[in-house]
Amino acid sequence: MSTVYGHFINGERVAGTSGRTQTVYCPATGKASAEVALATTDEVNAAIDTAIAAAPGWAATNPQKRIRILMKWIALIGEHLDELAELLALEHGKTFDDAKGDVIRGVDVLEFALSAPHMLKGEFSDSVGTGIDTYSMRQPLGVVAGITPFNFPAMIPLWKAGPAIAAGNAFVLKPSERDPGVPLRLAELFMEAGGPKGVFTVVNGDKEAVDAVLNNDAIKAVGFVGSTAIAQYIYETAAKNGKRAQCFGGAKNHMIIMPDADLDQAADALVGAAYGSAGERCMAISVAVPVGQETADRLRDKLMERIPKLKVGHSLDPQADYGPVITPQAKERIHTLINEGVEAGADLLIDGRDKGANDAEFNGESLADGYYVAPTLFDNVTPEMSIYTEEIFGPVLCIMRAESYEEALALPNEHVYGNGVAIFTNSGAAARDFAQRVQVGMIGVNVPIPVPIAYHTFGGWKASGFGDLNQHGPDSFRFYTKTKTVTSRWLENAENVGASFVMPVMD
Ligand code: NAD
Repeated sequence: MSTVYGHFINGERVAGTSGRTQTVYCPATGKASAEVALATTDEVNAAIDTAIAAAPGWAATNPQKRIRILMKWIALIGEHLDELAELLALEHGKTFDDAKGDVIRGVDVLEFALSAPHMLKGEFSDSVGTGIDTYSMRQPLGVVAGITPFNFPAMIPLWKAGPAIAAGNAFVLKPSERDPGVPLRLAELFMEAGGPKGVFTVVNGDKEAVDAVLNNDAIKAVGFVGSTAIAQYIYETAAKNGKRAQCFGGAKNHMIIMPDADLDQAADALVGAAYGSAGERCMAISVAVPVGQETADRLRDKLMERIPKLKVGHSLDPQADYGPVITPQAKERIHTLINEGVEAGADLLIDGRDKGANDAEFNGESLADGYYVAPTLFDNVTPEMSIYTEEIFGPVLCIMRAESYEEALALPNEHVYGNGVAIFTNSGAAARDFAQRVQVGMIGVNVPIPVPIAYHTFGGWKASGFGDLNQHGPDSFRFYTKTKTVTSRWLENAENVGASFVMPVMD
């Protein structure tokens, strides 16, 4: 193990000076692959100083010139796609193809951010009074930050960086300390594309680094994605410190399967959405809600046919459907929750505990110490069980049987989380009613993982999202800019009416 990740400050990689590091593991083998430096408060503040120095020049660069750099960045990420996906797969554990998707869904938002010249256009009203015009403009905030989770180490940093930078801000990223390799490469490629020094900064670290970002007065906005407890902490601390914040948290996503649905399609969709990326997606489906006992029995049988055929393997194994989970602690927590489900009386139809990967080795490397959890299926889960109340973030699917559509609809509506949800049905009326009444931010109709496309916005409700603007789409430009409105009168066009002491109103 020779890699030691530092930070990316003022246009280059720099070593950490804190003396504190954390080991990065390859989850597929359980072997250490690198060390990552954990920044001190002083290091974070010094990094932010370089962003402060860069911000005015970047804000003054016209938007079209800014997006030309983004265009080159997009091209370079495309040229390095395989390299980025391999690094991502090895540090995260997801499969190579899935890792490519992680990068590409991030690039989608960079492409959307090319609309900056249009998105930043203000509004103009002429003759709002005699000789008076009003216009508005969107200006960057200055220095803004992103704090991101382990599960999408390319996509989510790019979701934040793209609109923030295109809008003219200097952007400081604090990525997950568990898979820091890809964010550092993305920053390097930004420089290669012609990005100015200090416009994209990466500081690695843990709570100390996050708190340093939250307590630095120069940071005007914080975009966070991660678990709900931390999302809430960051939202409250940022708000207390006078910063704008949007903080996205955990999830428990339901799929309602109506009796008229195509059950083969629903079962295929469920298997991919529940077990893809080992269930470590905030939009993974973890609860299947078939309506009626007959639908439930038929769906269960179709799942029982499909799930044993899934292959769990090394991230670079092209045959693997999904890879390991992120850490031994994550694996342990998933096992604990499965045990609790059994103790609470749910029917464990397929038990993924202690099964490991399908193969003993891959490319000569043993998989025995990798953090594998085989697919797990519960039936007859009820609302008070911890496997239902908690986000498991692992390859565990719970079937909750509902007697009626209303009973099924009540489940996502009453759950503490409200990130994503899906309905599978052939009835337009049922789908429409569901979309109107469900209390969740993102809804799929016969679509299991309804992650909106880059030019729409992404955000959950309830404990899945704190703040009033979503990620990507038009909201991202609103989040990373402030509006200024100018009301102007040129005196030679207007009669001087002398001093007035009353509120100006229209005659
Ligand atoms: P996490 O909350 O542990 O970490 C997220 C970030 O917060 C990391 O950068 C981490 O260093 C930092 N952090 C961790 N503990 C902290 C503390 N005590 N104080 C300050 N900062 C701290 O989340 P994770 O395990 O990396 O990611 C998984 C979670 O993210 C899941 O709950 C998943 O649902 C959620 N997620 C949500 C979305 C969404 O859009 N809603 C998307 C992806 C992931």
